Amino acid sequence: MGKNKKIKNQHKIIVISGPSGAGKTTLIRKVVKRIPTLAFSISATTRPIRKGEREGVDYFYISEEIFKRLIESDSFIEWAKVHGNLYGTLKYHIDELIKREKNVVLDVDEQGAHQIKEKNIPAILIYILPPSIEELEKRLKKRKSELTKEMKKRLENAKEQILSKGFYDYVVINDDINKAVEELKDIINEYIKNEEEIG
Ligand code: 5GP
Repeated sequence: MGKNKKIKNQHKIIVISGPSGAGKTTLIRKVVKRIPTLAFSISATTRPIRKGEREGVDYFYISEEIFKRLIESDSFIEWAKVHGNLYGTLKYHIDELIKREKNVVLDVDEQGAHQIKEKNIPAILIYILPPSIEELEKRLKKRKSELTKEMKKRLENAKEQILSKGFYDYVVINDDINKAVEELKDIINEYIKNEEEIG
């Protein structure tokens, strides 16, 4: 790559990880809708399609045989086995999005985030921390919308712990979805803007 290529002409990669089951996907989808230059990277997976999901929208659903062939042909930016299924980010797909002048959001597990960092791919790494499943259940039962002080403290501690490891650049607590969308949107906008100013 030429050194004099302006950074503002390169499109940004935003990597988002976090435990599943508490709205990470919803959060990402909402943010993608709110930032016009953002596109969601559709991963390839060997896991069966779930009700309500669509081929080529949520994932590219492929067989294990094809997935393995794609590994052999070095077609993935990163890939990992998660809960017994294979998931991977296709180089070709990312190239297509970047050609369409998009900044790209990747929803990958922690193994995927590590591979991206190891390959020195410029990216911002964000971790989404959901309130605990027990707390979610409790809140749903009681129809309480506020987290207890105790829970907030525990979440803040968990956030500090993740940040102190220095791997992720930001941690967003997905307690109130609207607040989390705003927070994530601001982080991403700031990243895109800052990088553009360098060019
Ligand atoms: P789910 O099957 O519930 O959609 O996703 C399970 C997990 O796989 C989530 O933690 C999600 O972040 C992760 N995942 C989805 N796509 C990819 C991918 O392309 N690469 C990696 N490494 N993980 C992925």
